[in-house]
Amino acid sequence: MSLAHGRTYLAIPGPSVMPDRVLQAMHRASPNIYEGELLDLIRSVIPDLKAVARTTGNVAMYIGNGHAAWEAAIANVLAPGDRVLALSTGRFCEGWAEMARRLGIEVDLIDFGLSSAIDLDRAEALLRADTGAQPYKAVLAVQVDTATSVLNDVAGLRKALDGAGHDALLMIDCIACLGVDAFEMDAWGVDVMVTGSQKGLMTPPGMAFVFASEKAERARAAMDRVSSHWDWSPRFIADEPPLYFGGTPPVHHLFALREAMKMLVHEEGVEAAWQRHTTLARAVWTAFDAWAHPEGLALNVKDPSIRSHAVTAASAPSPKATQLRQWLEAEAGVTLGIGLGMAPQGDPARDGFFRVGHMGHINPHMVLGVLASIEAGLHALKIPFAASGVAAASGFIGSSTSPVSGSSSRGECC
Ligand SMILES: *Cc1c(COP(=O)(O)O)cnc(C)c1O
Repeated sequence: MSLAHGRTYLAIPGPSVMPDRVLQAMHRASPNIYEGELLDLIRSVIPDLKAVARTTGNVAMYIGNGHAAWEAAIANVLAPGDRVLALSTGRFCEGWAEMARRLGIEVDLIDFGLSSAIDLDRAEALLRADTGAQPYKAVLAVQVDTATSVLNDVAGLRKALDGAGHDALLMIDCIACLGVDAFEMDAWGVDVMVTGSQKGLMTPPGMAFVFASEKAERARAAMDRVSSHWDWSPRFIADEPPLYFGGTPPVHHLFALREAMKMLVHEEGVEAAWQRHTTLARAVWTAFDAWAHPEGLALNVKDPSIRSHAVTAASAPSPKATQLRQWLEAEAGVTLGIGLGMAPQGDPARDGFFRVGHMGHINPHMVLGVLASIEAGLHALKIPFAASGVAAASGFIGSSTSPVSGSSSRGECC
């Protein structure tokens, strides 16, 4: 017998929960893909995407996932033989760097470990020392590394580049955290930013986005050639849908995205969404702090100032983390994320890590439901914990909100 009947909850760091409204927006016949409604739809989501990224720069949409966004970004501004500096705080920056290498780019990868942020002084020193004939053309970094849940200081990275007087493009992966953790493309001087549809943007996986500053557009213009599929230039113009997407547009994803942008930009507001994620992420950390036990759970990132509000990476002595995930899926209908890149393939230590996604369309009852289910799993599996994380998290959420004023007529009849 399992208790896990009812609505399941995929609480992994993407794909995130899709709002019913977003799913329903896709449930329709396709319009003409050559003119009319679809072109208006494409044009209407562009200002909203820019509002989420806080930029007046251009954005290109692609059919693809986050990996596609990585390749699109590289293809527009980097050529074989170019040098880049990649500043890694987990599996995802390594992945982007590896992709660049496979495309013939020379990558210097600096690893800052699995629970620390980029050391900005070290980054600045590396850039200052880069005085050879062929300087770095770009710096690659991930704002939130989804494997470790480390949040990097992107504004600080811009200061490091400026402090070193270095001219490299600043290229940032915001796939995990756009619309979740505060991000200011223009104010922070980011040149290229990549993201995907299926995390903070609450849209099914399958669309990728690349944002470019004017400096990045100049770098694109100076390229000898760019693959016609990845070239962002025709996509910045947004005139004919089939030209835009290099073929048939992702029609139904566009309807989904339109609805998600309505919710995020026009109804909730981007800053309110950042604030909601801040409170909910702190509730998760409060629970883990209460549970913390040498034989039980621990947070991967000790310093709260470098923790993402989109995802929390945690550990338990192997194989307890895997057992906990399995119990939650089988008995509670909650799927947690596996540990990624925390231990080598085949190493039993891999069963000591897990992740909780808390990005996008989430609210207190969803977060508290996940936390209470984890706590039930701790009881079931006899994993020791110091105190109730549920009591701590619910107390935190209760004290973070203001009382609702006015009287309500609801509940009078039943
Ligand atoms: C999810 C994610 C990716 C990869 O995205 P896919 O859609 O799985 O290709 C890359 N970088 C970060 C930071 C992510 O969170």
